[in-house]
Amino acid sequence: MLDCAIIGGGPAGLTAGLYTTRGGLKNVTLFETGMPGGQITQSSEIENYPGFFEHDKTGMDFMDTWQKQCFHFGLRHEMKKVERVAKTGEHFTVTLEGGESVEALTVIVCTGSTPKRAGIKGEDEYFGKGVSTCATCDGFFYKDKPVTVLGGGDTALEEAFYLSNICSDVYVVHRRDTFRAAPATIDRAMRKENIHFVTNAVIDEIVGDAMGVTGVNIKHNDGTMTHMDNTGLFVFVGHNVNNEVLKDQNGDFICEMNQRGQVIVDLCMRTSVEGLYAAGDIRIEAPKQVVSAAGDGSVAALQVISYIQEQQ
Ligand code: FAD
Ligand code: NAP
Repeated sequence: MLDCAIIGGGPAGLTAGLYTTRGGLKNVTLFETGMPGGQITQSSEIENYPGFFEHDKTGMDFMDTWQKQCFHFGLRHEMKKVERVAKTGEHFTVTLEGGESVEALTVIVCTGSTPKRAGIKGEDEYFGKGVSTCATCDGFFYKDKPVTVLGGGDTALEEAFYLSNICSDVYVVHRRDTFRAAPATIDRAMRKENIHFVTNAVIDEIVGDAMGVTGVNIKHNDGTMTHMDNTGLFVFVGHNVNNEVLKDQNGDFICEMNQRGQVIVDLCMRTSVEGLYAAGDIRIEAPKQVVSAAGDGSVAALQVISYIQEQQ
């Protein structure tokens, strides 16, 4: 029986692992589908994490030391996808991909979120063949070539800036003429001479051939259409919450959620089910920042330690 099962190895899960094990729990496992690190490993930079002021470091570099530290106090890692969490009596059953299951006294769900698809014609067909949601991963394929970025949030404008240092030109297509991104991020992108803004417009269709994307058809809000030739499209239109693990076999959530599929927690990261905690981007009102996800992870871990002490 695990003291605590942590699901998801992003900033929230890793921090929960650090605090539970350093706080004395001996039997804690972090289940992570892939390598720990979470979404931030897809980022080309991070400049708003206090104490980290190295502009030439990517999100991957940033998370590297986290892992060394977070696993230092006895946290175990299983590279497995969790299918489901269920409360059976006083404890939890965590079902892993393949059907194996593990029992745990407490669970902290830190499964974060995943980039959304925009639903454009050709998007699925050309995903991985010119359509990407990761500039750090794929930007270099378009060195000295023009690319398109879709979206007007922090991710779109930050990644457009990153791409502008590799690609010849970056065309940011956004459906409005004001942006959701932070003012400093907008300002920096606006000042970059090879970033061009195509506002009040959406991408109607991604066109290509057997080699991949060749261009995009753009529909402007006034109804006119234009075509842009280029071989890379980066889609940054937000994220979906990864809440599947909290559904039972009938598809019903095991704890209270809001209408957007985010887990309702209190200030201690407690869900409506005793012993079940949620931390990071998956919870209601999440600021969707590394620093806050890490903060949530520590809060949930401290609660887990108290809960287990009370049970004993
Ligand atoms: P995540 O980082 O999403 O981690 C969740 C983890 O859970 C993933 O590793 C996933 O593989 C795993 N997982 C999911 N489902 C399962 C399952 N069923 N079983 C096992 N494992 C599972 N924030 C900032 O503060 N500053 C920035 O500069 C910044 N830049 C960003 C740039 C980009 C491109 C993106 C995408 C995000 C950025 N963010 C930034 C936001 C930040 O990355 C997130 O807020 C933060 O990573 C959330 O942490 P988390 O631990 O809640 O979830
Ligand atoms: P986001 O803030 O939800 O922005 C998504 C953008 O995509 C919006 O501009 C939206 O337009 C547009 N959009 C959505 N659906 C679309 C569609 N179908 N077609 C065309 N455009 C579409 O998502 P995000 O930028 O990924 O950011 C997610 C969270 O992570 C945010 O809370 C953000 O602050 C955080 N984050 C923070 C940092 C940082 O702190 N440095 C960096 C990255 C991300 P509208 O604006 O018109 O809705």
